[in-house]
Amino acid sequence: MEKIKITIAGPRGKMGQEAVKMVGDTVQFELVSVIDYKHEGKSLAAILPFVHTDIPIYANAKDAFQNTAPDVLIDLTTPEAGFHHTKAALEFGVRPVVGTTGFTNDQIEELKQLAKAKEIGCIIAPNFAIGAVLMMKFSTWAAKYFQDIEIIEMHHDQKLDAPSGTAVKTAEMISQVRTEKRQGHPNEKETIPGARGADRQGMRIHSVRLPGLIAHQQVMFGDSGQILTIRHDSTNRASFMSGVKVSVETVMKLDHLVYGLENILE
Ligand code: NAP
Repeated sequence: MEKIKITIAGPRGKMGQEAVKMVGDTVQFELVSVIDYKHEGKSLAAILPFVHTDIPIYANAKDAFQNTAPDVLIDLTTPEAGFHHTKAALEFGVRPVVGTTGFTNDQIEELKQLAKAKEIGCIIAPNFAIGAVLMMKFSTWAAKYFQDIEIIEMHHDQKLDAPSGTAVKTAEMISQVRTEKRQGHPNEKETIPGARGADRQGMRIHSVRLPGLIAHQQVMFGDSGQILTIRHDSTNRASFMSGVKVSVETVMKLDHLVYGLENILE
């Protein structure tokens, strides 16, 4: 079987390093290059001590695609760089698997149109942890019976976007089964702005940022006399890699963009 050739953007990052390890440990995958704006021209082994093969580093996505002809780009960078890399990949015929969060709806729509025009696969997943996908699915089920919902997402303090992509995706999935409802007392007033969190169709989303956290979310459902809490915790970043692996295999068979790991899991 021919190996799937992969470029990773953001290899020095917390997620990127896990992805480099996962690709190295997967026999059917081959890492052909990485994109890192700070180390152009070096070999990956020079910046990551656990890498022992000669993988070229490019600052520019197009150079990486042109010189190393990957099948798939795994992007784990920042919203701005990630969007730029993903667009360049689609234009170049490279299939993106994007874990980077913080893309706007307009950006996702633009990438969707581009994937459609190029007839190639693209997977954007705000959360690659299978348990988190189940948490979102179970929450959507519970939302059919509970109208009042508060989402509390908790992440490490280096995270750039708030609310998290997972929280936004959870709210979107719930919105499909829940009629819009303004929650809390009709006359409630915030004495400190932001106290009630972000408002998504009346649902409230709260973002906690603390050193020591990794990625956690609980969805609380309230009704008279009962509270249901559905919670997921990623306790290390390896938890995301089984989802990245499935996405790399699946993206090869797609001819359009899929947003959300739940849409490729059976
Ligand atoms: P991180 O440790 O800050 O890693 C991001 C990496 O991207 C850094 O090494 C950064 O380099 C690099 N970078 C920034 N701009 C770049 C550019 N233009 N070209 C190439 N590399 C660039 O963050 P992380 O925790 O790994 O998270 C990365 C992304 O994945 C975030 O968007 C995060 O929200 C998301 N995430 C997704 C999942 C999921 O399951 N989908 C799970 C966890 C995190 P410098 O630091 O030197 O600027």
